[in-house]
Amino acid sequence: TSLIKVDDLVKWYVQKKVTKKDGTTKKDQSIKAVDGVSFSLDKGKILGVIGESGCGKSTLGRLLVALEEPTSGSIEFEGEPIGHMLKKNPLQFRRNCQMIFQNPFDTFDPRNNIQNILTTTLKIHNIGNSEEERLEICIKVMESAGMRPAKDYLHRYPHELSGGQLQRISIIRSMLLDPKLIIADEPVSMLDVSVRADIINVLLQLTKEQGAAMVFISHDIATTRYISDTVAVMYLGRIVEMGKTDDVIQNP
Ligand code: ADP
Ligand code: ADP
Repeated sequence: TSLIKVDDLVKWYVQKKVTKKDGTTKKDQSIKAVDGVSFSLDKGKILGVIGESGCGKSTLGRLLVALEEPTSGSIEFEGEPIGHMLKKNPLQFRRNCQMIFQNPFDTFDPRNNIQNILTTTLKIHNIGNSEEERLEICIKVMESAGMRPAKDYLHRYPHELSGGQLQRISIIRSMLLDPKLIIADEPVSMLDVSVRADIINVLLQLTKEQGAAMVFISHDIATTRYISDTVAVMYLGRIVEMGKTDDVIQNP
C-alpha cells in the first residue's frame, strides 16, 4: 500500500476585506489554493511538485504535514486519515512527517545554540536515554551530513551560521527523527547558488539512507528532474500533469 494517499483535496483561503490606498475597500475574497488534488506516493519514493509561483505547491505541502487543514478531501498516511493520527498521537505524526522550509533562518529560535536545538528535538520525541546519548546521536548524523567535526558547530547560534549551514542543520534535525515522509518546500531557493547542489545532495543522501519518501517542491526544473522518481505539475491549484520524471520533464 501507499505511504500517503491524497484524494480530491481542496483548500480555500478567505482573504479578509482589504482597504486600498484610495480608501475604498475590497470585499472578502476567496482563493481556491488547492483544487481537487489526488495522488499517492509509495515508501521511499520522491515526488517532485513543480509549477509557477502561486499555483498552490506550498499549500499542498503544508496540508500533507497538517500545518494547514483541508476544506475538503482526504489525506491518508499508511492507510489512516491524518486527522485521526493527529488526535491519537500528535507527536508520532510530527515525527513521521517532517517539513523542511524555504528559509532556515525562520526555522530556529535564535536563543538556542545548535546543540540545544538538536538535542531538544530528540528529547521531545523521547529518543535517547541521556543527554550524552542524545548528543552522540546528533554528532553522528551531523558528521554523516558533512558537518565535521561536529563540535565546531555545536556551540554556535543560528545567526553564526550561513544559510547553507543552517539549512543543513534543519535537514539534520528532521532526519534525527527517522521520518517516513519529508516535505521539502523550496529548500534551496533562498540559498547562495554555490551551496545549492551540496544541500540537495545531503537531503537526497539522508532521505535514501533512511528509506524515507519525499515530496520535493520546487520551481527549478533541473533539480526536480535530478531528484524525483515522479513529477506532478501544478497549475492554478490543480495537478495538470503527473508521471514518471523522464516522461514529464524531457531532456533539454
Ligand atoms: P506556491 O507555493 O505554488 O507559490 P502557495 O500555496 O503559496 O503557492 O499559494 C497558493 C495561493 O494561495 C496563492 O494565490 C496565495 O496567494 C494563496 N495563499 C497562500 N497562503 C495563503 C494564506 N495563508 N491566506 C490567504 N491566501 C493564501
Ligand atoms: P513549537 O514551538 O511547539 O515547535 P512551531 O510553531 O515550531 O511550534 O510548530 C507548530 C506545529 O508544527 C507543532 O505542532 C510542531 O510539532 C509542528 N512542526 C514544527 N516544525 C515542523 C516540521 N519541520 N515538520 C512538521 N511539523 C512541524
